[in-house]
Amino acid sequence: MNSIVLDPTQDPGQDIALRRVHEHKTASAPAAFRFEADGDGIGWLTFDAPNGSVNVFNEATLRELDARLEAIESDPSLKALVIRSAKEKVFIAGADLKAIRALPPARLETFIQLGQSVFSRLAALPMPKIAAIHGACVGGGMELALACDYRIASDTDCTRLGLPEVQLGLIPGWGGTTRLPRMIGLPKALDLIVSGRLLKPDHARKVGIVDEVVPREHLEAVAKKWCEPLARNQKKDSRPAAWTTFPIIRRFICCKARRDLIAKTRGLYAAPLMALKVATRGLGMSIDQSLRFEREALLELAKTGEAARLIDLFFRKEEASKKLPATGTALPVHHATVVGAGVMGAGIAQWLASRGVHALLTDISTDAVAKGLSKVSSLTDEGVKRRVITKKEARETLDRVAATHEKVPLHHHQIVIEAATESMEVKKKIFADLASRSAPDTILATNTSALSVTELAKSVPHSERVIGLHFFNPVHRMPLVEIITHAGNTPDVIATAVAFVQRIGKTPVVVKDSPGFVVNRVLMPYLLEAVRLHESGVRVEEIDLAMLEFGMPMGPLRLLDEIGLDVAAHVGRTMMAAFPDRLPKTDLLDRMVAEGKLGKKSGRGFYDHTTKQRPHVSGELNTEIQERLAMLLSEEAKRCLDEGVAASDGEIDLAMVLGTGYPPFRGGPLQYLLESRL
Ligand code: NAD
Repeated sequence: MNSIVLDPTQDPGQDIALRRVHEHKTASAPAAFRFEADGDGIGWLTFDAPNGSVNVFNEATLRELDARLEAIESDPSLKALVIRSAKEKVFIAGADLKAIRALPPARLETFIQLGQSVFSRLAALPMPKIAAIHGACVGGGMELALACDYRIASDTDCTRLGLPEVQLGLIPGWGGTTRLPRMIGLPKALDLIVSGRLLKPDHARKVGIVDEVVPREHLEAVAKKWCEPLARNQKKDSRPAAWTTFPIIRRFICCKARRDLIAKTRGLYAAPLMALKVATRGLGMSIDQSLRFEREALLELAKTGEAARLIDLFFRKEEASKKLPATGTALPVHHATVVGAGVMGAGIAQWLASRGVHALLTDISTDAVAKGLSKVSSLTDEGVKRRVITKKEARETLDRVAATHEKVPLHHHQIVIEAATESMEVKKKIFADLASRSAPDTILATNTSALSVTELAKSVPHSERVIGLHFFNPVHRMPLVEIITHAGNTPDVIATAVAFVQRIGKTPVVVKDSPGFVVNRVLMPYLLEAVRLHESGVRVEEIDLAMLEFGMPMGPLRLLDEIGLDVAAHVGRTMMAAFPDRLPKTDLLDRMVAEGKLGKKSGRGFYDHTTKQRPHVSGELNTEIQERLAMLLSEEAKRCLDEGVAASDGEIDLAMVLGTGYPPFRGGPLQYLLESRL
């Protein structure tokens, strides 16, 4: 029931003189929206979903919003409407994916229709509508904002805007695919919808999806300013020129976007291709027709396994990034030492500093330290160039990094991450020295790729604090960190390691100490089989193409060139010693290393890297090779599961997707195995 009651006492501390409150309560659920109208005839609709820090749309919140809009529609005294959120870091996070996942197809259609009709009602309100955005404004949240006339965003770090639906195998189906191209033109809209990228506020303003970016504390005042005709009249008309909607132009833009997309994804993902089609064709239709087209396309996608697998992975990643182990107390980490200033050490130190941790980078010589520092600095510059961090954040990052080659006391450091040369002898010496310079409860972590953490732990007193933190290369791009535990670890040490990895914005997967852990172990039989196949006469390109067509970001032989054939041969030896019966027998890697072919770093490996041209792989797909290599990944993943190396199939799949780029649309090697057996 909606009614309008006079309530002059409501929220007296606010700067707006409140006049009326539209009451909306249902017997079962507490209200998610508050409505107040101020003395200037401006309606303030605040989304504040009960029980939690996030606003999402489910059937209940959509129906409540609909009722609110109906009441607003019939209130002639309202001059404008501002929509805002009461949450600290979220405007609206989109549709409630958990609820969507549970809906049977018939209800899903109703749900999509409901969202479309509520946002259409919002768009049709006879007054200016302004979205005052602070925090995440994504998916359905962005679609609500697009149904408003103006969007003002806070310049805060937590504010991000975009339509990431394709990353979940879906398309923006509450009007996003229809409204965005009309607002900013097809090329820019396709770029956003097809990539699913989220934008920072300033970037969003440049692209044209935000009208003004202001400090958080001015957000409401500026939104109110936009309610006045004078302010609105100053807005430049940013609508795309009419000629850009001509069918022939649209087709041209779509063809180009499709070509770029296929070059990136080999056409393996259905959702971005569908988004492209709907956005382009929809632009030639009426809004209502385009919305119907959107709805039908979304329903078709929602039925596919691709969407289900991508949504499952999304939840797994969310859980791994937020959930702490059931036991143990996580202690905060403010200061960390990184030992070894090479490729990994410098990358780790830079990443920690960019995430607010003070990092001391050490190595054996001033030269090595200087090289490491220069890498830290170039990685930080790259972050500024890629607009991942601002110049101010870059300065703060560099201020948090110190470096030395001297053996200074480390008692005030909560964690040490060793990333020195991959040799048990070297690492044991380093750990003995670290133990003598640190507090007995300082966590001593190793970034080893395949050495035994248990053996390393035995070499120091208080072995319970020794753990593996396996970062991937390049550190700033790879989201996974394997946390390698051994039988002697205390729950507090594991909890602290998990919380630390989460705090620095990486996704932890806890695994038991065993050769190669999860990622390298699953990868190694696959890589060695690719080498063996080549040794037996199959062309490099044929092998790599098979796995590119499977969806891997690069073929196995190209990956070996990137890793370095010497490093791969070393890990291969560790694995062969551990699993002598299983791994494909080949000594080709050793022979290539002996000839100086180390891969990319030496200019030659399976490919010639001396020219600037990227290795181009094309030809006929060999499905037998594809199936064979894909199955090797799945079978080794299954052995890891059976041996309890990770706690669940979901964690192994997540580790493989995040650690190797295993095609997310396939869900992971265990999901692939499950489906191929059906
Ligand atoms: P790297 O050769 O680039 O760097 C190693 C650094 O360790 C060098 O700067 C060296 O001077 C330093 N070092 C050697 N002995 C030392 C000592 N006693 N004290 C302090 N520093 C010492 O090697 P990297 O590729 O950065 O690998 C480092 C570790 O990370 C290895 O254990 C490796 O297996 C692991 N790792 C590497 C990758 C990768 O792709 N490179 C990925 C994951 C894990």
